[in-house]
Amino acid sequence: MSHPGATATDRHKVVIIGSGFGGLNAAQALKHADVDIKLIARTTHHLFQPLLYQVATGIISEGEIAPPTRLILRKQHNAQVLLGDVTHVDLETQTVDSVLLGHTYRTPYDTLILAAGAGQSYFGNDHFAEWAPGMKTIDDALELRGRILGAFEQAERSSDPERRKKLLTFVVVGAGPTGVEMAGQIQELSDQTLKGSFRHIDPTEAHVILLDAAPAVLPPMGEKLGLKAKERLEKMGVEIQLNAMVTDVDRNGITVKDKDGSIRRIESSCKVWSAGVQASPLGKDLAAQSDTEIDRAGRVIVNPDLSIPGHPNVFVIGDMAFVPGVPGMAQGAIQGGKYVAAIIKNEDKARQHGTKPKPREPFKYFDKGSMATVSKWNAVAQIPLGEKTKFEFGGFFAWLAWLGLHLIYLVGFKTKVATLLSWAVTFLSRQRGQLTITEQQAYARTRIEELQEIAAAVQEERAS
Ligand SMILES: Cc1cc2nc3c(=O)[nH]c(=O)nc-3n(C[C@H](O)[C@H](O)[C@H](O)COP(=O)(O)OP(=O)(O)OC[C@H]3O[C@@H](n4cnc5c(N)ncnc54)[C@H](O)[C@@H]3O)c2cc1C
Repeated sequence: MSHPGATATDRHKVVIIGSGFGGLNAAQALKHADVDIKLIARTTHHLFQPLLYQVATGIISEGEIAPPTRLILRKQHNAQVLLGDVTHVDLETQTVDSVLLGHTYRTPYDTLILAAGAGQSYFGNDHFAEWAPGMKTIDDALELRGRILGAFEQAERSSDPERRKKLLTFVVVGAGPTGVEMAGQIQELSDQTLKGSFRHIDPTEAHVILLDAAPAVLPPMGEKLGLKAKERLEKMGVEIQLNAMVTDVDRNGITVKDKDGSIRRIESSCKVWSAGVQASPLGKDLAAQSDTEIDRAGRVIVNPDLSIPGHPNVFVIGDMAFVPGVPGMAQGAIQGGKYVAAIIKNEDKARQHGTKPKPREPFKYFDKGSMATVSKWNAVAQIPLGEKTKFEFGGFFAWLAWLGLHLIYLVGFKTKVATLLSWAVTFLSRQRGQLTITEQQAYARTRIEELQEIAAAVQEERAS
C-alpha cells in the first residue's frame, strides 16, 4: 500500500470520504482553515442527484449536473482531491484504505468525515436491479435513458402487438419525489418530444405506470400535496397504482401483490426503481469496530455532534447518518458538512493557541422545505413557517420556486447557464437536447457484472 503524491506536513489532517453535498460542503467550509484536506471519492465529479431524472429523460446532459470536483476545488490550496473507492476505515490506526484500479492506497487522518451517501435498496432482492435499475449515479441515468429510448426503437421494429404493448409499457416503482418526476417525464417525452417521429408506432400510446406499496403519492409531503401530484399525473395520462407491492422483477415485467393478497403481472420491458435507499456499507464497517450502531437502512446512529461513540474525531454526515428529524435530503448533508467544518476549525484554532476549545453545540437542522416537479410548469412545494405550520402550494408558482432553487444550488456558473439553456429548449419548444443513446449505455451493467464474475473466477482459480 502506498500514497504517492501525498504531501506530508505537520498540519492537522482531515480526510473526507465522498464528494456529494455533504463532503463537498465540508471541504469548502474548511477553505480558510489551517488544515490539510484529502477528499477521497469513487467518482471524479460532484453529483447533483436531484436532476438525475432529467439526464435519464434527455433534458440535460450529464456534465451539467456533475462538474469535476477537482475543478471546483482548484483554488482551494489546502484540499487535494483523490479518486478511489474507500473499502475500509481503521479506527485504531486512524487510516482509510481506498482502491483505484486494483491498487490499494492507505491515507492517515487526524479527523475523518464520512459522507459516502446511500445507494438503492431493493429490500433484500438485489437481483431486481438487473431489470429495474435505480437512479443514484450518472451511469444509472444514462442506462435508463438507453432503456427508455431503446424500448421505443424496438417497438418500432416489432410486428407483434403483444410485444409492442410490453415495450411501450413503462413501470416506475416508488411514488416518492423521484418516482413522480420520472413518471411525469417519461409521459411528456412520449406525448410531446417523440410524437410524430416514428412511422410504425405512436409514441403517445406509451403506457406509464407509477406504482407504490404505500397508499399515497409523495407520502413525506403530506396528503394535500400528494393528492395534487396524483391528480396532475393522472390528467397527463400516468396510471397510478397504490397499495401494490412488487414481489418479483424479471426481463419481461413485474409481479405485484395487491392489498387484498391477489397476485398479478404487468408485462413491461422498461422498469425504473425508485423505491428505497440503503446507506453506504462503510457504516457497518464502523459499527464492527466501535460501539456505533446502525439502523435498518444502514445509517449510522450518530451523537448529537454528528461524531460516533468513543471517536470524537470521526464524523458521519448526510445520507449515511441517522439524526432524528433530519430527512435524507441535500439540505441535511449540506448543513451537516458546514457544521462539522465549524467544529474542526474551532478545535484546530484552540489546539494551535494552546487553549480550550468551545464545547460542541448539538447539530441543529434548519428545515428549508421540500419540493417535487410533476410536469412542465407544475410542481408541489412545502415551506415551513415556524415550528408547526407549513405553507403548501402546487402548480406554476411552485414550479418557478423549484426552478429558482435548483439554479441556486447547482455548483458553478457555467453549469447554471448550460442548465438554464437546456431548460429553455425543453420547456419552450417541447424538444430535448440530450436524446443520444449508445449500446454501451443500455447494456453496460450486464457486461460489467459478467466481467466482475470472470475476474472473481480467475482470482479463485489462482488462489486454489
Ligand atoms: C434521484 C434523486 C433525487 C433526489 N432529489 C432530491 C431533491 O429534490 N431534493 C433534495 O433535497 N434531495 C434530493 N435527493 C437526496 C439528496 O441528493 C441526498 O440527500 C444527498 O445527495 C445526500 O448527500 P450526501 O453527501 O450524504 O451523499 P451523496 O450526495 O450521495 O454523496 C456521496 C458521495 O460519496 C461517494 N462514495 C460513496 N461510496 C464511496 C466509497 N466507498 N468510496 C469513496 N467514495 C464513495 C459518492 O461517489 C459520492 O461522491 C435526491 C436523491 C436522488 C438519488
